[in-house]
Amino acid sequence: MSTPQTTDYTQVESLKIGPEDPRYRAVINKQFNKRYAATPDYVRLVNSTEQIVAAVEEAVNEGRPLAVTSGGHCLEGFVSDPDMRVIIDVSPMKRVYYDAEMGAIAVEAGATVGETFRALFEAWGVVIPLGEYPQIGMGGHVVGGAFGFLCRQLGLAADYLYAVEVVMVDEDERASSVVATRETSDPNRDLWWAHTGGGAGNFGIVTRYWFRSPDASGNDPAALLPRAPES
Ligand SMILES: Cc1cc2nc3c(=O)[nH]c(=O)nc-3n(C[C@H](O)[C@H](O)[C@H](O)COP(=O)(O)OP(=O)(O)OC[C@H]3O[C@@H](n4cnc5c(N)ncnc54)[C@H](O)[C@@H]3O)c2cc1C
Repeated sequence: MSTPQTTDYTQVESLKIGPEDPRYRAVINKQFNKRYAATPDYVRLVNSTEQIVAAVEEAVNEGRPLAVTSGGHCLEGFVSDPDMRVIIDVSPMKRVYYDAEMGAIAVEAGATVGETFRALFEAWGVVIPLGEYPQIGMGGHVVGGAFGFLCRQLGLAADYLYAVEVVMVDEDERASSVVATRETSDPNRDLWWAHTGGGAGNFGIVTRYWFRSPDASGNDPAALLPRAPES
C-alpha cells in the first residue's frame, strides 16, 4: 500500500476536447517551439493509466495517428506533427508519492521538473538530478536521460530510474500497460533500459516513473535518493 500523495492536483475524468473548446487551444499553445502548430482532430486529457489505455485504443481503432505530450518542451515538431490526429495530454497526472510495494518514489509523467523538485524536497529532503528548466514535463524528460545543474555531482536522472510504467499497443492493436524494472530477473528489463536515454515518444506512453538510488537499501523514502544540496 502506498503512503499518502504529496501532491494531489485537480482530478479530471478523461476529456475529449475538440477545436471549438478553449482547452484544445491551451494544449496546442503549450508547445515551447512556436515554429510548429498542431492541428489534431481532438485532444485527450487523461488522469490515470486506465484512461490512457482506453484513449490509445480508441485512437488506434479510429485509425488516427497519435502523439503524447507532458510538459510541452519538445524542441522538435514531434507533438505538433501535422500527421498526428490525436494528442493525448498526460499533464493532469502529477502525483508524487512513496510506493512501498515498489520500494521507490513514484512520479507521474505529467509532473513538471519544478513540481518534482519541490515535492521531493518538501516531503523527504531528497533530489534527483533533473533538467534546468522547471516547466519541462517529466514524461518527455527522463526517458532522454535528463541532465542538469547537478549532473557533475550526481549523474543523470536516468541513473536513479528504478522502474517505468508504459502504455503500449500490440500487433492486434490492443493497448495495455506494462511495468519494467532494472531488476536483472525482470523479463521487461530491456524496456526499462530503453527508458534510461532512448528518447521520448519512441516506445509507448510513460504513465509514471519510480526512482531509487542503485545502492539504496531499506524502506525509508528519505534514504532512497540523494540528499538535496544546501541552498
Ligand atoms: C527551454 C528548454 C530547456 C531544456 N533544458 C533541458 C535540460 O536542462 N536538461 C535536459 O536533459 N533536457 C532539457 N530540455 C529538453 C527536454 O528534456 C526534452 O525536450 C523533453 O522531451 C521535453 O519533455 P516534455 O514532456 O516537456 O515535452 P513534450 O513536448 O510534451 O514532449 C516531448 C517529446 O516527448 C514525448 N513525450 C511526452 N510525454 C511523454 C510520455 N508521457 N511518454 C512518452 N513520451 C512522451 C513527446 O511525444 C515528444 O516526442 C530542454 C528543453 C527546452 C525546450
